[in-house]
Amino acid sequence: MRKLTKKIIIGNISIGGGSPITVQSMLSMPSDDIKGNIEQAVRLEKAGCEIIRVSVPDINAAKLVYELKNSVSCPIVADIHFDYKLALESVSAGADKVRINPGNITNEQGIKAVANACKANNVPIRIGVNAGSIRKDILAKFNGPTPDALVESALGELSLLERYDFDKIVLSLKSSSVLNTFKAYTLVSEKCNYPLHIGVTEAGTERMGIIKSSIGIGGLLLNGIGDTLRVSLTADPVEEVRAGIDILRSVGLRESGIEVVSCPTCGRTKIDIIGLANEIESRLSGVNNKIKVAVMGCAVNGPGEAREADIGVAGGDGEGLIFVKGKIIKKVPQALIVEELLKEIDKLEV
Ligand code: SF4
Repeated sequence: MRKLTKKIIIGNISIGGGSPITVQSMLSMPSDDIKGNIEQAVRLEKAGCEIIRVSVPDINAAKLVYELKNSVSCPIVADIHFDYKLALESVSAGADKVRINPGNITNEQGIKAVANACKANNVPIRIGVNAGSIRKDILAKFNGPTPDALVESALGELSLLERYDFDKIVLSLKSSSVLNTFKAYTLVSEKCNYPLHIGVTEAGTERMGIIKSSIGIGGLLLNGIGDTLRVSLTADPVEEVRAGIDILRSVGLRESGIEVVSCPTCGRTKIDIIGLANEIESRLSGVNNKIKVAVMGCAVNGPGEAREADIGVAGGDGEGLIFVKGKIIKKVPQALIVEELLKEIDKLEV
């Protein structure tokens, strides 16, 4: 069961309090390339990104926030490190949320000014703790960036904001270690009920990054923890969004799009199941309807699985049996399987 957290409004969506779990990503273009950032933001939104974060490394970059607000409809989060004044500037430019890192903004009066500006403009703050930038005194106390160190860093900043009467807060406690990330979020979710932005930071290149994120994020989600997520990849951020959506679908927290159930193939396979499964998945990637397609290699498990799906194929010798809602409707040669399945899927959508 999902943990019920406080509901926070960010632009035109909400995080926590039972809201659907949102997928977010971060722009990766140089911050002075306004056109490039806008193009990337539009691509992210089209791919299903629901919250877009942008770095604001200097005062000039705050105008990017304004430009992005005029270019996409999803909320824009300003990512702030070191200088609280950049947060103030971003709020003035229309940011829907501000992310601050307690490890590198230590000026209490600055934090107070950010809290006041965010409160006046109804802008939430994410306290984004990273294992790589925990304050030295906390690192010394815990002998490194342990889960307890991540939690102490987040709770310290939390109590500071609360002291300034600010409570529209989202928390994140990320580490590049899957285990530490998992432990830190589990610990913090026992200690407060602010919504959690979950993710494994600096997870790596596409393949390992998706594996680490799927385990870290997926494990937390299966334990009912997490209100919004980011898959962090050294890749095109559109891939982060795709992976995030697929993680949600894999744990049953999002029910749209095509799910291809396909067998691993074995010595009994007599048709090209790998090619078929890939072709079907790629040709149906833009379909939003919830449809389960089974692509099975033979008559052992094939017909059974294909019957469980909305539509499916069970392979024979150079041919396939097409099933729709549990009934065999035709036998077709391998070369026609994809087209026949697509035709039948079209009928299902009508
Ligand atoms: Fe092998 Fe058939 Fe199972 Fe596929 S469904 S792995 S072909 S036994």
